[in-house]
Amino acid sequence: MTRVFSGARPTGRQHIGNYLGAIQNYVKLQAEYECVYSIVDVHALTTLDDTRKLPEYTYELALDWLAAGIDPKKSIVFVQSHVPEVMELSTYLGMITPLSWLLRVPTFKEKVKQQPENVNYGLVGYPVLMTSDIILYKAEVVPVGEDQVPHLELAREIVRRFNTLYAPTFPEPKAKLTDFPLIVGLDGKNKMSKSLDNDIPISFSAEETTKRVMTAVTDPARQFRKDPGHPDVCNVYRLHRYFSPGETDSIAERCRGAQIGCVECKRLLAERINALLSPFREKRAAIATNPDYVKEVLADGAERARVIARETLREVRHNMHLT
Ligand code: SF4
Repeated sequence: MTRVFSGARPTGRQHIGNYLGAIQNYVKLQAEYECVYSIVDVHALTTLDDTRKLPEYTYELALDWLAAGIDPKKSIVFVQSHVPEVMELSTYLGMITPLSWLLRVPTFKEKVKQQPENVNYGLVGYPVLMTSDIILYKAEVVPVGEDQVPHLELAREIVRRFNTLYAPTFPEPKAKLTDFPLIVGLDGKNKMSKSLDNDIPISFSAEETTKRVMTAVTDPARQFRKDPGHPDVCNVYRLHRYFSPGETDSIAERCRGAQIGCVECKRLLAERINALLSPFREKRAAIATNPDYVKEVLADGAERARVIARETLREVRHNMHLT
């Protein structure tokens, strides 16, 4: 079975955008591939100022994955730092990766702008560690959004260089382009993001979700209930497309005819989100009653991952003539 690798940084709560995109995709991939899913906590260190929250974020992310349907019997689910072999491979790859390749990565340039006071070595080396994450498990496929394609291309370049310099060792990982829906946040302007506090966290209760949805910005031109609305410019309407697919025509019509008010429309959206997330929430709450189960899953995942990692490193050291 072809092996897939993907990782997610534990930097805080997951929101409905993550759920509709990455998390549901992870669940689907299990039917076709042997999946290796890593909570990449070392990557989180490049941007996280306060690491005291890391254990909580890691646990919560594992909980989200398991509740959404990632099956630890089928897939390997583990924490990156629990398999320290990845750091050794990253050091070796760092020796063959030209600095110029890393400096031209668009996300590095963005991060330099975002955190000029903390342009650390880890930020520059991020793609090298990312490549190590993938090839340590000899993964052949990596699910990516359009914006991550340059990262994967760089990973492939590093692999080609290693295989040419030493010996054919790693498969070149291929991108599996995934159409992640672009979910705009409740502010109606920016991409949904926990850092902008415009998100709907999936771990919220039904009441919290409703309260949150009621804060959403709608059609700015609609001042009063009697004013006709413009669903095409309204973010609540955009969200209905994902959560109320069979009702969008009727909502648009009632909005344009001022037959539905924004308060009612948002309540309806909250109901639909809550209905969709209800099985997930129930499962999440049930798993959370036994935190030891989550720890066991991660420990078992790390053990299985390390078996592959040790074998790869043995081959790498041999091919690099390290004794
Ligand atoms: Fe948006 Fe709904 Fe209000 Fe129309 S009724 S402007 S779709 S929130």
